[in-house]
Amino acid sequence: MCVVAGSAALGTSHASAQAAATLSESDPQAVALGYRADTTKVDAAKFPQHQATQMCNGCQLFQGKATDATGPCQLYAGKLVAGKGWCSAWVKRAA
Ligand code: SF4
Repeated sequence: MCVVAGSAALGTSHASAQAAATLSESDPQAVALGYRADTTKVDAAKFPQHQATQMCNGCQLFQGKATDATGPCQLYAGKLVAGKGWCSAWVKRAA
C-alpha cells in the first residue's frame, strides 16, 4: 500500500501516472459533486437523495474492493476515494 503524506495537488493539470493520491474534498471536481470522505458528513440539505448507508465502497464507479479503505473511482482519474466516502454521482453497485 502506498501512503502519500500531506500535500494534495490542487492544480488542474492532468493526473500523473505515479502513485495515486487521496482525493481532496477541496478538489474542484470533488466540490462540484459534493464529495465527502465521510458519508456521514454529507450536506443533507444540499443532497436530499443521500443516505448514510451509501458509500463509495458500495458504488458502481468504485474500483476497489468493498472492504478497501480507499480505492480508485472512475470519475476521479488518478485519485483514491475513501471507501466510506460519497459523492452525488453515487450509483448502487450491482450485486
Ligand atoms: Fe464515491 Fe461513487 Fe462518487 Fe466515486 S462516484 S466518489 S465511488 S460515490
